[in-house]
Amino acid sequence: MASSSTVPLLTRLIAAAVNVSQKSARILRDVKKSGEMNVQEKGINDFVTKADFLSQLNIIKSLEKQFPKLKFCGEEGDLKEDYPDLELSLNETVLKEGKILPEVYQSIREEDLIVWVDPLDGTKEYTMDYNVANEVTVLIGVAWNGRPIAGVINQPFFKFQQESNSYLDRVLWGIVGLGGFDLTKGRISVTQNTTNLPTIVTTRSHITDLIQKNLNLIPNKQIIHSGGAGYKALALVDSKADYYIYPKNGTKRWDTCAPEALIQSLGGCMTDIFGNQYSYSKSEGFIEENYYGIIFSLGQNNSNICSYFNQELKDEIEAEAEKVRQKYRK
Ligand SMILES: [Mg+2]
Repeated sequence: MASSSTVPLLTRLIAAAVNVSQKSARILRDVKKSGEMNVQEKGINDFVTKADFLSQLNIIKSLEKQFPKLKFCGEEGDLKEDYPDLELSLNETVLKEGKILPEVYQSIREEDLIVWVDPLDGTKEYTMDYNVANEVTVLIGVAWNGRPIAGVINQPFFKFQQESNSYLDRVLWGIVGLGGFDLTKGRISVTQNTTNLPTIVTTRSHITDLIQKNLNLIPNKQIIHSGGAGYKALALVDSKADYYIYPKNGTKRWDTCAPEALIQSLGGCMTDIFGNQYSYSKSEGFIEENYYGIIFSLGQNNSNICSYFNQELKDEIEAEAEKVRQKYRK
C-alpha cells in the first residue's frame, strides 16, 4: 500500500473522487433497478430523480469529510440532508500513478480548489430504456485559479456482465500535465485524426435548424448524435469523434469541468464558439451557464473550427447570452 501522506493533495483528492464515483455508480444502478426513480421534470427536457440527489449527497458529503476546506458546486444545489453512508477510501491505483505531479501544483491549498459536481449527467437517458444507459455519467471536476485541472468521469452502465447479472462501470480520470487514465487499462493515448474527414458529435435532443445549418458549413464532416455532455466528451477519448460541438446555451460548468480537465490532460481543449475559455472560479456575480456554447477538440485551440460559424449563429448566441446575464442580474 502506498503511504498516502507523501502523495500530493490533488492526487489524494482524485483518488478519493474515483472511489466516490464508483459508489455513486452503484447508487445509480440500484435506484434504476428498484424502479423507484421518482422522476420529476425541472424544465422542458430537463429531469431529476432520486438518484441525482443521492449521488450528489454521496459525492459532496464524502469528499467534504476528507477535505473539509474544499468548495463545492453541485448541480442539485446545497443539499442539507444527512448522509451517513460515506465513502472514505482512496484509490490505490490513482495514488500510485499520481505520486509525482508537475511542480506547478505544489502550492495548491485545499481552500483554493472548487469541485464541480454533476452527480448524474444524462438524466433523461437514465429514465429511459437500458439500451441508452451507457450515455449516463457521473462527473467530478476540480478547478484551481479558475481553470479545470483534474477530473473523473464514471460511466455506471458501461458493460453488462452476465455472471453477476449487473452492469460494471468504467472510470476515467485525468490531471492536466500528468495525463489521462482508464482505471483498469492504464494511461490513455488518443490519436488525432489526420484524414480530411472530421467526425463531429453533437446533441440528439436539442438540435435546431441553425445548429444544423452551421454544422453543415464545416466541409467533409460526418455528424453523430448522442445524449449526455460527459458521454459526448468520451467520444473524443475513445477516438469516435474529433469534435464535440454544441453552439448554444444549455450546458453548465458542472457538465464541462470534469470533461474539460480530462480532454486537456490528453492534450486537447474546450472553448466557446469564439474560441475563448470559460472561467470556473465562483466569484461575485458568477454565471455558471456556458452561454457561448461549447466546443471540445483534441487540438490545442479551436480557431480553425470556429472560423466556420456564420454571423446568424453568433448574433443569436450573443442575444441569448444577454438574456442569461439579465436573468442573473435580477
Ligand atoms: Mg445532472
